[in-house]
Amino acid sequence: MSEIRVERLTKRFNETAALDAVSLEFAAGSFTALLGPSGCGKTTMLRLIAGFEAPSEGRVLFGDELMADPQQQVPPEARGVGVVFQSYALWPHMDVAENVAYPLRARHVKRGEIAGRVGAVLDIVGLNGFESRRIEELSGGQRQRVALARCLVADAKIILFDEPLANLDMHLRSSMVDAFRDIHRRTGATIVYVTHDQAEALALADRVAIMSEGKVLQAAAPQEVYRAPANATVAGFVGRGSIVAGLAIDHAEGSATVDIAGHRLMVRSAGTSAGPVKILLRPEALRISPEGMPATVLDSIYRGPVHEVRLALPMLPGQDPGQELLIDSTEAIAVGQRVHLTVSDAWIIPGA
Ligand code: ADP
Ligand code: MG
Repeated sequence: MSEIRVERLTKRFNETAALDAVSLEFAAGSFTALLGPSGCGKTTMLRLIAGFEAPSEGRVLFGDELMADPQQQVPPEARGVGVVFQSYALWPHMDVAENVAYPLRARHVKRGEIAGRVGAVLDIVGLNGFESRRIEELSGGQRQRVALARCLVADAKIILFDEPLANLDMHLRSSMVDAFRDIHRRTGATIVYVTHDQAEALALADRVAIMSEGKVLQAAAPQEVYRAPANATVAGFVGRGSIVAGLAIDHAEGSATVDIAGHRLMVRSAGTSAGPVKILLRPEALRISPEGMPATVLDSIYRGPVHEVRLALPMLPGQDPGQELLIDSTEAIAVGQRVHLTVSDAWIIPGA
């Protein structure tokens, strides 16, 4: 049974729909990332699940229990949901232990029990020994860990995170990614994690829901979203890569033969229609080799471990001009050089 279910959930502010008839299930114990650009409705979805907003249409269920429809809503404090926002909202005049203990005090948990539970969650977030530190003595990353601990101490079965790492620098973010994976393992909670950072979403979640303009475009395992995006918007939003035009010639189960700029190759495909198609080529699936698809080097940028090389496909009569590809090369390649590429994997983007 799914822990959280939203059915044709719509939220309108004035005229525009921040959330537009979204149906989505979150399995018990799953870790789902809501991924999409700013303004696509991620926070609105979380606020509706938490109960801070009421639906304009549709409903929210936890298990079989109705949490909200346009007529009636269970109040946030009765939903048993933990929420952590980008801003930590800690009490500056309390120390770390007092901040973390706050939800337990509010529920009149016994003093002796509080100390043990606070210690246990500070352990999980790696802040053992920080009990009597003042909030202003802490770094941004440590403050976010305190906010996390305060959420965890309540032992909620559903935890919602709204861009919890957005205020942290890159180095801290990657160490916090480990903390979130650990929290999921230890608590077994159903987690919904909002981010606009695709690397974070792919690394953390067991399912990624890609959102755009109030709709969910695809909800699938990270590998599936990356390897088999449901449409061009998802393909463009997740991972690096190139989308090129080609011609589908022949179809088999799950694959097709295509012609890209006069070169034939086998690609993965979910459909069966012949004719013009758009094909996604990821950098790691392209390799320079003695023969294969011809291309000319346009540009090469050193990106750390690899050179990111931009290549032009040959222009053929009747085909799209100016088609480009991106590859990663361990060696620098001179601009203007002609090369050949082998393609180990490619995907026909449905409906593109
Ligand atoms: P995200 O979290 O993906 O950046 P939001 O859910 O915050 O997006 O917002 C989705 C859309 O709804 C945006 O266009 C935003 O301006 C609008 N919106 C969100 N909350 C309100 C509100 N309280 N009043 C009016 N418009 C809102
Ligand atoms: Mg938001």
